[in-house]
Amino acid sequence: MRKELICVICPNGCQLQAEIQEGEQPVVTNVTGNLCDKGPEWARQEIVNPMRTIASSMLVEDGDFPMVSVRTESPIPLKKIFEVMEEIKAARLAAPVKIGDVIIEKVAGLPCNIIATRNVKKEAKAEVKAKVEAKAEAEY
Ligand code: SF4
Repeated sequence: MRKELICVICPNGCQLQAEIQEGEQPVVTNVTGNLCDKGPEWARQEIVNPMRTIASSMLVEDGDFPMVSVRTESPIPLKKIFEVMEEIKAARLAAPVKIGDVIIEKVAGLPCNIIATRNVKKEAKAEVKAKVEAKAEAEY
C-alpha cells in the first residue's frame, strides 16, 4: 500500500510517499519526496504510532478567570487522546494557577504531564460574582 503524507516538521512541507507493508503492525519499507532525512523518520512514526500535542482548558474555582488553558508537555500517542481528554475533563482545580504548573502528573499513565499555559489568580467569590453580573448586564 502507498500513503501520501505532508511532513509537518518544517515549513517546506514536503509531500512524502510512503510504501507500507500492511499487517498487524505496519512496516514502512520506503519513503520518497523528502528533502532531508527527518522526513522518512517522521513518516514512519506517523504511520506506526502517530503522536500529537494537545491543548484544552479546565474549570478553575475561586479564580479571577473561570478557566485555565492547559496542554501536554510533550507529544502523546494519538490513540491515547480520548483517555487523556477524559482525565482533563474530570480534574478539578482551585486558584491560584501559574503558567507551567503541573496540573496532572503522568496523564493516562504516560511519561507526560498536563501543564497550565496561563495564570489564574485567586479571587474572592463575591468579586467573581460581581464581575459575571457586570458582564451579563453589559451584554444586554
Ligand atoms: S522532509 Fe525535511 S525538509 Fe521536508 S518538510 Fe520534512 S523536515 Fe522539512
